[in-house]
Amino acid sequence: MDDIIIRKGRSGSPGYAVGKLYIYKRDPYHAPRKTVQDAEAEYLRFENARISTIKSLESVYNMTRELAGSKNADIFTAQSMMLQDEDYLSLIKTNILDERKNAEWAVSDASRHYYDFFTSTDDEVLKAKAVDIKDVSNKLIRLLSDADQNNGPEFSEPVILAAGYISPSELVQADESRIKGIVMREGSAYSHVVILAKSLGIPVVLGVGLPAAQSGCEAVIDGNDGKVIIHPDDETVGHYRHLIDEGINERSRLREYIGKKTQTQDGRSIELFANIGMPSDAVKAEENDCDAIGLTRTEFIFTDRDNLPSEEDHFKAYKEIVEAVKGKPVVFRTFDLGADKKLKAYGQVHEDNPALGMRAIRLCLTDKSIFIPQIKAILRAAMYGEAAMMFPMITSTNELVRIREIVAEAEEELGREGKPYRKVKQGIMIETPAAALISDELAEMADFFSIGTNDLMQYTLAIDRLNSSLAPFYTPHHRAVMKMIEMTIANAHKAGIKVTICGELASDMSLTETFIDMGMDALSVPPGLILKLRRHICSL
Ligand code: PEP
Ligand code: MG
Repeated sequence: MDDIIIRKGRSGSPGYAVGKLYIYKRDPYHAPRKTVQDAEAEYLRFENARISTIKSLESVYNMTRELAGSKNADIFTAQSMMLQDEDYLSLIKTNILDERKNAEWAVSDASRHYYDFFTSTDDEVLKAKAVDIKDVSNKLIRLLSDADQNNGPEFSEPVILAAGYISPSELVQADESRIKGIVMREGSAYSHVVILAKSLGIPVVLGVGLPAAQSGCEAVIDGNDGKVIIHPDDETVGHYRHLIDEGINERSRLREYIGKKTQTQDGRSIELFANIGMPSDAVKAEENDCDAIGLTRTEFIFTDRDNLPSEEDHFKAYKEIVEAVKGKPVVFRTFDLGADKKLKAYGQVHEDNPALGMRAIRLCLTDKSIFIPQIKAILRAAMYGEAAMMFPMITSTNELVRIREIVAEAEEELGREGKPYRKVKQGIMIETPAAALISDELAEMADFFSIGTNDLMQYTLAIDRLNSSLAPFYTPHHRAVMKMIEMTIANAHKAGIKVTICGELASDMSLTETFIDMGMDALSVPPGLILKLRRHICSL
């Protein structure tokens, strides 16, 4: 029995794996170096190889898009862009035409130059770029030298892949369904191969070299803790198998629910929306197969800024979100400032009762200078997809009348300025008892409802949502709240509009069936919960 060896590194991608190690060593390849006589002809040889490499990256892009979606496939678009980078190309050109180096030498020189430059910075993103430039340059050099194109690791049974570094294309070209986990000496959490592994649900441990280990030996990797165990004993294997069985490593299983209809066994269906706070969350929401973005907490985008966002700042962020979800509807909630959500740039006066104070729609109706630019930006972003706006903390029909006037004013301004825009649906949050109780009247004026159970609970139960000492008095399934939800759905449907829940209660799976029975049209939850909730609903 071999001694247990434990190596501690860093977590790259979470999850656990137990299996046999496959140590991947690339054949060392040394590109020939020589001085050329006909530099023009050599440059032409380089150009031809460069164009062929770009073409081969296109086919790896297509493979990856099938496997892991276009977001992950963009790694190869980025590599292709490197082969079109002016600085990189001009260095190679000088190497060939002025210094008369052969093309392989010229490329390897340029590759080393950029690799050293990127790795010398403290910026993790640039460090990740270093391995990409090396990867793409090596592809080019091998093509130039007619060397074996190095198709990467090959194995016939599931393995834990260990290497100094694995490139994204090697991962894609290997049979990823047989890769249980990855151990790499190099690379960071920002490396493209790690991002790709994450999206495929493969655990990764970084910063661990395994010089003494051999292919075929038993190993365990703990991607959460960044640990590798070689020659694990039965107890360790049992422990990790248990963790795996318990479903902690279930991401890949959840992927099976991508593209599936959210429907109970007896055919009742509901839509699943995502709650987001940043443009990058929209990408996550799309990857998790949301039906729409049900709530964009727009104030989160600008929290840390020193100055208030301009119309252009709003527009840029909203356009990015709308484009990220590729035509799916996006609900932008207008600023819900005050109380628990403050903008650094917007100094608000002290209030004794901020949750009952100048917050959300009250602030926007009082200070149009923060409201109008946001409305204009949402109307403009609607040119790039399906956008809607939603207003928080509504308590009366008068507020809706005033909002409509301001939206019309914003549309007029855009018309005068000649900026293209589209009219959008205008929905409201039902998150005060007042709004729930007059939801029949509000439903006649709004295009849709979204129930904010966090605030509805706070205001109905008179419990400050930020005060943790009140937890024993907090009753999330309180009948008063449930009755209001039921009443809101009935009134919305009577008026022919749809209702979503976008508060935390939407994620409470013990209530999912109740909400479906009530006739709820959609639940809006954090992106990472969508597939879990879909699986739950499909099991009902
Ligand atoms: C809510 O109140 O339930 C809600 C979704 O809004 P927020 O949590 O942003 O106040
Ligand atoms: Mg709220």
